[in-house]
Amino acid sequence: MAENDLMDKIVSLCKRRGFIFQSSEVYGGLAGAWDYGPLGAELKRNVKTAWWQAVIHQRDDVVGLDASILMHPMTWKASGHTDNFTDVLVDCKKCKRRFRQDHLKGKCPSCGGTEFTEPRAFNLMLKTNVGAMEDSSSVVYLRPETAQGIFVNFANVVDATHRKLPFGIAQIGKSFRNEITPGNFTFRTREFEQMEIEYFCRPEDAPAKYEEWINARYQWYVDHGIKKENLQLRKHDDQELAHYAAGCTDVEYKFPFGWSELEGIANRTDYDLKQHEKFSGKDLQYRDPVTNEKFYPFVIEPSGGCDRGTLAFLVDAYHEETVNDATRIVMRFHPKLAPIKVAVLPLLKKNEGIVSVARKIKQDLQKDMVCVYDDTAAIGKLYRRQDEIGTMFCVTVDVQSLEDQMVTVRHRDTMKQDRIALAQLKNYLTENLK
Ligand code: ATP
Repeated sequence: MAENDLMDKIVSLCKRRGFIFQSSEVYGGLAGAWDYGPLGAELKRNVKTAWWQAVIHQRDDVVGLDASILMHPMTWKASGHTDNFTDVLVDCKKCKRRFRQDHLKGKCPSCGGTEFTEPRAFNLMLKTNVGAMEDSSSVVYLRPETAQGIFVNFANVVDATHRKLPFGIAQIGKSFRNEITPGNFTFRTREFEQMEIEYFCRPEDAPAKYEEWINARYQWYVDHGIKKENLQLRKHDDQELAHYAAGCTDVEYKFPFGWSELEGIANRTDYDLKQHEKFSGKDLQYRDPVTNEKFYPFVIEPSGGCDRGTLAFLVDAYHEETVNDATRIVMRFHPKLAPIKVAVLPLLKKNEGIVSVARKIKQDLQKDMVCVYDDTAAIGKLYRRQDEIGTMFCVTVDVQSLEDQMVTVRHRDTMKQDRIALAQLKNYLTENLK
């Protein structure tokens, strides 16, 4: 399959089945913004839960945080965003279109013109005003990253939790960037969700923790179903590194449009805490409770995009095969990520006995797993519909079920069918969802 075809197929499936819609589509859409439909909302939620479990609940050394999007403007002075979070832009003198200078290869991609205006720095932060006055004193920014919400709460978390180094603070939340060229579906948008960890440690431990986090984050994608051949680690060279960083490695995914960053893992040294101490005047050093020694911890930052991750899970799950001369599209999501776990399908929708058993099965299962009930087509069509959205199991109730109290369970990936006793059904499904 040509790579462009694959992306087109995924975008079209996402719209057709309710994973992802264009934002405000009835008004012609808004560039760089997308909406998650019923299935996309479930999928993205599952991605966030899987991340939260892996980086917080299943470890001993990381706690969660949920900081606000609006922060004191001084935050962005201290972090360097007010002065340095810029893209350099030029305008084509012929067609007047604007481009990122680093994306230009000599000619205007739109009209072929070769004359451009002087380069100008363009800040990517989105600005708004708080309160009744719309002047410079009321300007705040929609955060361009969630990380700073963690740094400014470092002392609060230490005081409240008595955590000892090494420990991390993790959060998931919306970030905003006025990207000049949003595109590639949800890969680059102006509003997106980040999943970030700031892991604080003694300076001498930072190189080892950096390596540990690179491996842990790579493995997380593999554990949730991404094929290894579609993942790679890319180490930044010295020129690419921020001036304060001692190392940065990206986890990249082989999207149909090329290898691209899913997540970056950086050793940010003690830069951020020192900057916030300088700008706030508050002591942000860490005091070792045993030795009383005071110092600035180093920070390892695994910073991933939830939307980019979700897109990678969608692309990697997409699978086409030929079954009985017809194309079967199946989204092979990891069981934890699949939006729907079970579809309950009555073989005859007008048979009261069958309907009542099927309804009861759904009511019982939905307390523990996400289920749907569908009787709107013939069974073959119902199976194909569920395959296309990655539902793990279809449970079919037929006439025989009324006599033997057994149902047919069909597995998404193998299409294998098992006859399972009703009394065993929930156990069987739970076991197979692990
Ligand atoms: P890029 O080089 O692609 O613009 P970046 O290196 O600036 O990304 P970071 O600032 O390191 O990105 O942000 C951490 C993560 O947040 C990225 O790895 C990505 O997953 C996500 N992210 C950043 N910008 C966007 C965006 N415009 N749309 C969607 N996700 C984004």
